[in-house]
Amino acid sequence: MGLAKALYVGMSAIQRHMDMEEAERYLMGWSPEEEAAVLEEHLLVCASCRRHLSSTELYVSSMSEAAAVSARTRFTDYGNWQLLKLLAVAGSLAALVLSGLLAAWYYGSGAGR
Ligand SMILES: [Zn+2]
Repeated sequence: MGLAKALYVGMSAIQRHMDMEEAERYLMGWSPEEEAAVLEEHLLVCASCRRHLSSTELYVSSMSEAAAVSARTRFTDYGNWQLLKLLAVAGSLAALVLSGLLAAWYYGSGAGR
């Protein structure tokens, strides 16, 4: 690929508007690194996507608020104790997964060679 072509592709990636899915991925922190970088550069130059993103942000936060409300409802249904047990199990599972990931990363990165 020539330089001019590469520049053109890079520019068009930045000039392309983000769609709903990309905006949601970005807000949830799920975008791959390159995608997030392109979206951020695009946001610098595009007011309409900034508006779009802030309205999506409202939507996302209202969704998580709704989830929090239903969690509170479950809290009263199950009673404090059962929810605490559930949280403890979820917490230890998360710790297991995390330490597994860390170990995989540590050995995968070639440390100790
Ligand atoms: Zn845009």
